[in-house]
Amino acid sequence: MTNSMFGGPGRFYRGNLHTHSTASDGVLSPGEVCRRYAAEGYDFISLTDHFVGLYDYPITDTLPYRTNSFTTIPGAELHSGAIANGELWHILAVGLPFDFTPSNSPGLRPVDDQETGPGLARRARDAGAFVAIAHPHWSGLSDEDARSIDAAHAVEVYNYGCDVDCDRGYGLQTLDLLLTEGRRLSLCATDDAHFATADHFGGWVMVRAEANEPEALLTALKAGDFYSSQGPDFSNIVLEGDEVVVDCSPVSTVILQGPAHPTSAVHGKGIEGARLPLGRLKDAPWLRLTLIDGEGKRAWSNPLWRDGP
Ligand SMILES: [Zn+2]
Ligand SMILES: [Zn+2]
Repeated sequence: MTNSMFGGPGRFYRGNLHTHSTASDGVLSPGEVCRRYAAEGYDFISLTDHFVGLYDYPITDTLPYRTNSFTTIPGAELHSGAIANGELWHILAVGLPFDFTPSNSPGLRPVDDQETGPGLARRARDAGAFVAIAHPHWSGLSDEDARSIDAAHAVEVYNYGCDVDCDRGYGLQTLDLLLTEGRRLSLCATDDAHFATADHFGGWVMVRAEANEPEALLTALKAGDFYSSQGPDFSNIVLEGDEVVVDCSPVSTVILQGPAHPTSAVHGKGIEGARLPLGRLKDAPWLRLTLIDGEGKRAWSNPLWRDGP
């Protein structure tokens, strides 16, 4: 949610940051996954197969499937170490080098003497990746677990596959807790598509970048120059005095949030813009916005920090 994001150079590119293929436990080949996302109108995806020994630590090569209008960012879903409930860490890493050193992660269960999840996340960030805490609700992530990932750029606040198959798709509570504790995090919506069920084309990011190229997209992701959606679109967000001014695709609700419970909301039919008074959010250190359309589909801005990026 940066004021410059909508007026600066470049345009928005639609992408899915979390996808699986036959290189791990997905149903479709990497080429077919890319073909389907391109055919659906996506500008880019990251294939993020499970980076464990069971699948020979894949960082799936999607370079052959790039076209003039569709690109790919090499990535993986990283796993090592146990979270508080005894399950394995799931960490999204978009923009990994192909020679990223594997952790000792034989399968999808934790084993003794593994690298910790926070340590693996740090290595991925240092290697150039955009790192997100994956599906916190589905994992059963504790607040302490979430706090321990100090290398994360983002929290995956919507995972379509976890929503469709488990009714545990959301991670907004984890995000808001960390924001309220001062963590400068973005949020992302993804598919986590495996194509065994209807788990695709339901959550995505709209990234403002100067070109539909992996480096430009990664730079924008790390800078927070994107929003996340299940359907609606933001076209402008400006903080003007004591109001946040929003322009958007037609929706029925626009909500301004900050720490704790004070919010500001506008409801109606076919709303394409709103002026939301800060009210009790006047001194809030961060603000974010939610759009909800007539079908209940949402879009979320990244947090805007009042004292600058
Ligand atoms: Zn996962
Ligand atoms: Zn996944």
